[in-house]
Amino acid sequence: MSKYLNRRFAGLDVYTPGEQPKQMQYIKLNTNESPYPPSPEVIAAVNAREIADLRLYPDPECLVLKERLAALYGVGRENVYLANGSDDILNFAFMAFAGDGKKAWFPSISYGFYPVYADLHQIDAVQVPLLEDFTLDPADYCSLTGPGQEGGLICIANPNAPTGLALSLGQIRQILDANPDKVVLIDEAYVDFGAASAVRLTADYENLLVVQTFSKSRSMAGARLGFAIANRQLIADLDRLKYSTNPYSINRLTQTAAIAAVDSNDYYAANCQRIMDTRQYTADALRNLGFTVIPSMANFLFVKSPQIDGTALYEELKARGVLIRHFAKPEITDYNRITIGSKEEMKTFLEKIREILEEMS
Ligand code: PMP
Repeated sequence: MSKYLNRRFAGLDVYTPGEQPKQMQYIKLNTNESPYPPSPEVIAAVNAREIADLRLYPDPECLVLKERLAALYGVGRENVYLANGSDDILNFAFMAFAGDGKKAWFPSISYGFYPVYADLHQIDAVQVPLLEDFTLDPADYCSLTGPGQEGGLICIANPNAPTGLALSLGQIRQILDANPDKVVLIDEAYVDFGAASAVRLTADYENLLVVQTFSKSRSMAGARLGFAIANRQLIADLDRLKYSTNPYSINRLTQTAAIAAVDSNDYYAANCQRIMDTRQYTADALRNLGFTVIPSMANFLFVKSPQIDGTALYEELKARGVLIRHFAKPEITDYNRITIGSKEEMKTFLEKIREILEEMS
């Protein structure tokens, strides 16, 4: 740290992204990417002409892409917001809807970036414990009234990460009904793998902000594109921050690729189904090996073995060429999060697990 850094940022506890190794080829089951490539239409769309056009700035409004997404999700163009990854939207949402005396509430076990954004923007964060089985009780978010609790932001990943557990739309409505004074952000990064999306509730609730990403179900983590759907005023609030920082945050290649991706929706829906089938196959195999497997609606499984602790399993698999994710958090240290790869990758992963367990017994 230099002596020049603004003191406000000196004590930040920053987010640690999952490993992206360059030196060695791993079976990569650690950052919830898709095992499948973008659609052939996406690959064809990013052609030499598009690359030559990189000399020009991209459309800051992303109008064509917004229109395509609006048509797909049955909303107006003015209800769609686009950003450089959903991380960018989460950052802006914390900045826009909490702080200055307004708190942010989110589950104590959830996406690790929520507390980082709260800290970055000096927001008083309330980390609401999950129940012992990692489920979220909506009632815990339904009496946030009284002094110091007016306004602010409730941020819930649905399905939750790293557990994969999902809330029903009825439960989300319960939280929305109890909190008309707060923005309720539903982070749907993993919604395409079996959970119900709250997008259709945005017509009924002016305080609902639904956030999704092209990084998981649409195989575009490397292109960095996230989107939000909400009431037009919430979208306008987020736009104020975008136009106060970087209006060109979505580059030309990403816009072009994403338009083609929206047009190949069936291809991605079929990939999601394959991933859900492989999830079932992997969960059954792990349960047969004695693992506890939390029922997941996402493209990952959250699991623990009675024989080997979370850190040791992570290290043993890494030594055998398979990367999974372990979180250094006491409540979940026994667990690991395993991204669902291709069927072949999961077969190799399971072979390595069997090898490790046999060596131990
Ligand atoms: N939300 C959740 C719950 C996530 O797990 C992730 C991925 N790390 C993100 C948001 C961010 O995804 P991206 O910025 O790639 O859209």
